[in-house]
Amino acid sequence: MSQDDTALPPDEYLSNEEVQQLRAILQDRANALISNSQMTVSTLTDQDNDGMEPDALDLAASESSRDFSLRLAGRERHMLKKIRYALQRMEEGEYGACESCGEPITYRRLLVRPVATQCIDCKTQAEQLERRSRAI
Ligand SMILES: [Zn+2]
Repeated sequence: MSQDDTALPPDEYLSNEEVQQLRAILQDRANALISNSQMTVSTLTDQDNDGMEPDALDLAASESSRDFSLRLAGRERHMLKKIRYALQRMEEGEYGACESCGEPITYRRLLVRPVATQCIDCKTQAEQLERRSRAI
């Protein structure tokens, strides 16, 4: 058990209704990401199919916007993976429990960040460790 005196009581675990609500949020976000990334892909295709020889300035502009689209697509893919993982954990009944300590993640935290896999304590600790290792 946790020695942490800020540990939440068991009734902080999600109710079925709360899980359903979070599932709807996750599915909405997944749908939004999928339609966004389809737009990104078609934009890229349009640029690639342009048979004209671009001058240097146009090329620079299109290169940088392409970089941006690709980066966005990478971020979207990453987020989509997190959403799928969260939905999978819902299926397994694991959703809402911290992966590091097993304590419940609060509904309020999940509303803001439904893909969270760690409670705020573990997340803060992980970020501090990361910051410390980056400082070395
Ligand atoms: Zn935790």
